[in-house]
Amino acid sequence: MENQHYETVIIGAGMAGLAAGIRLALAGREVIILERHNASGGLNSFYSQEGRKFDVGLHAMTNYVPKGTKGTPLTKLLRQLRIPYDALDLCPQNGSRIHFPGCQLRFNNDFAFFESEVAHAFPREIDGFRALAEEVRTLDAFNLGAIPSSARQAVQRHISDPLLEDMLFCPVMYYGSAQEHDMDYGQFAIMFRSLFFEGFARPLDGVRVIIKLLQDKYRSLGGVRKMKCGIRRIHTKDGKATALELDSGATITADKIISTAGAVETARLCTDQPEDAAAENIGQLSFTETITVLDRQPAEFGWEDTIIFFNTAERFRYARVEDALVDPTSGVICFPNNYQYGEGRQLDEGFLRVTAMANHDQWCALSEEDYLEQKAYWYDALQKVTLGLLPEARLDLDTHRIASDMFTPRTVRKYTGHLNGAIYGAPHKIKDGRTHLDNLYLAGTDQGFLGIVGAMLSGISMANLHVLQG
Ligand SMILES: Cc1cc2nc3c(=O)[nH]c(=O)nc-3n(C[C@H](O)[C@H](O)[C@H](O)COP(=O)(O)OP(=O)(O)OC[C@H]3O[C@@H](n4cnc5c(N)ncnc54)[C@H](O)[C@@H]3O)c2cc1C
Repeated sequence: MENQHYETVIIGAGMAGLAAGIRLALAGREVIILERHNASGGLNSFYSQEGRKFDVGLHAMTNYVPKGTKGTPLTKLLRQLRIPYDALDLCPQNGSRIHFPGCQLRFNNDFAFFESEVAHAFPREIDGFRALAEEVRTLDAFNLGAIPSSARQAVQRHISDPLLEDMLFCPVMYYGSAQEHDMDYGQFAIMFRSLFFEGFARPLDGVRVIIKLLQDKYRSLGGVRKMKCGIRRIHTKDGKATALELDSGATITADKIISTAGAVETARLCTDQPEDAAAENIGQLSFTETITVLDRQPAEFGWEDTIIFFNTAERFRYARVEDALVDPTSGVICFPNNYQYGEGRQLDEGFLRVTAMANHDQWCALSEEDYLEQKAYWYDALQKVTLGLLPEARLDLDTHRIASDMFTPRTVRKYTGHLNGAIYGAPHKIKDGRTHLDNLYLAGTDQGFLGIVGAMLSGISMANLHVLQG
């Protein structure tokens, strides 16, 4: 690969990088995607253990709309990538809920149902909730030049009950906030729409369906992808990136570079930046996730929900875990079986996944022996919390478990390179994708659109803006 030159180099073969690559390849541009690992998908990937495939990432594809719906992020995305709707095999959720002490709100892919749940549980807040929903519906949330503003303040203008406020923030933050305690109102609106106005769906075979589609499309257009090919440095001169130095020591050059490695991570690759550049913008939020494989379908235990966003404390706290490895007081429970896969279609085994916030530094400081011990401890602790929220709470899960696994912030860091294992990246997003270098742009998580659909849209919009129109 020595001394090769490309019109555009994309760093990272996650959802954003693959989507950007397809967009450029569709326009007949010369593009190469360079990925440090040997698998595509980035944060959203899958792996096999003893012949069993585990998804990492995909609980639910947000932004679901039925086929033929016009003008939504999902349909725009498919049109831009020239991918037919049916290829995604999207199967809608059964239904999900937000579970707080003494209060539950159920929702599905029909917003009117969620609205009726809010009206029932919070009769005095329903007018405010409707006003908030209307504001969120019409907000110009995709404005790349918008100045960030507080979502908490915006919600409090309409909602006065802190319980309802927290119940709305819990799913929205868990599925898309890189910021602690509060988030940008535009980002809140994007997530609120994608969860509640649109909804959740999943392909029967999980995230690999989406990754394979993107890879195949990119390849069919002649796009070049190089795996096990990390970028070690970005050489710079006079405010421009001049060359990319690979982990192997080889260099390549490019007119333009789109990086999906993260804002701070990308800055630190550049030779004109100090090693500790942009330290104030490193994400603080990381997560752990347990996966339990069951000997039967969750529905056989009466577990019919698709996703449960839970909080067991008096107030919902979305912030870095300070004094423990895991904060089990809130999290997300997901049953990938509980989608409407259609007659005769279902996963062969039952799956239960539990996500909670975790402290990156503490997990990374453990010795190998302690790491395994703590994983076992927290696995059990999270299963206990989960069972407490489900029917059949006294069930002995051990007798029905046929396999399990758990990832921690250490795993996220290893597989994505995200500093602090920050799944949602930097708290301050760079919406126009520009960096301190003229020909280096950001896409994906740190450009600001989160989740699978968000990351793909980000890749598309940055490729359009900076390469095709630039
Ligand atoms: C546990 C978990 C659950 C999630 N659940 C959902 C969900 O249910 N629904 C949803 O929509 N989203 C979910 N997400 C979020 C979603 O996975 C991400 O928002 C999305 O995948 C981000 O894509 P990206 O392309 O921006 O970044 P990434 O996936 O981080 O991709 C960046 C890529 O760049 C590569 N890279 C980094 N540095 C270098 C370098 N120097 N050289 C070469 N390559 C490099 C990395 O290896 C990686 O492959 C979840 C994430 C996690 C971890």
